Amino acid sequence: MANAPECPVCGQQGVPILYGLPTRVAREAAAAGKVRLFGCVVPAEPDQWICPESHSWRADDDGVLLAAIEAAIKR
Ligand SMILES: [Zn+2]
Repeated sequence: MANAPECPVCGQQGVPILYGLPTRVAREAAAAGKVRLFGCVVPAEPDQWICPESHSWRADDDGVLLAAIEAAIKR
């Protein structure tokens, strides 16, 4: 996930946050540490990325986010 943004707090690389009921593929990606699952309750201003220290944040570039999610769940 070369394009994943760095955490604004600690500088570690983030992984995408997935909201909603996880599919089997999404659960496998989460188990591998490629995404983080946040369940079905989506906040009004949902964060998009989370780092290994569990800092979460929003980024402006949805294209990067979608590409990272796609890369995480592709076989
Ligand atoms: Zn962090």
